[in-house]
Amino acid sequence: MLAWKGVEGRIPTKTLSELEKGGIHISNTLCPGCGYEQETVEHILLMCLMSKTLWWMVGSWLGVKDLHSCSSVADILSFSLKLYISKKKKKAVNCIVMATLWNIWLSKNEKVFKVVQFSNAIILEQVNECTMLWMNVIAKMEYIMENLVTEEWYTSGVNVIEN
Ligand SMILES: [Zn+2]
Repeated sequence: MLAWKGVEGRIPTKTLSELEKGGIHISNTLCPGCGYEQETVEHILLMCLMSKTLWWMVGSWLGVKDLHSCSSVADILSFSLKLYISKKKKKAVNCIVMATLWNIWLSKNEKVFKVVQFSNAIILEQVNECTMLWMNVIAKMEYIMENLVTEEWYTSGVNVIEN
């Protein structure tokens, strides 16, 4: 997933330190969303007006302030740490943040980036759907994970999962 790749510095030839500086240039072209700023990972995912509006929408859906003020991927991925909510809720917020990043990226690739209001409503809907699905998967996975021993997982992979 893009967000993980971004944070772990696995975007080919790019590193985490570059991401933190907020200056990865995907290409030398201008952002397809606003046509004004340089097309960087940070700009597309967080800073572009359309993305900012979407983060604001997601923030008000979650009932949290300042989600739209995060200026780096690392920042927004650790946003839940700043909230005074239960562990479970933090996991849900993380899931929603991931889903939002993922869906912005998808929409950018689908080139619907330009249709501002229309696509933001659709992206939010996709985030809603995505998170329902992911949370479901996470809950089931956590149930399986409860009985896993780390060393066995590393050596034997899925073979250690009980039938
Ligand atoms: Zn832009």
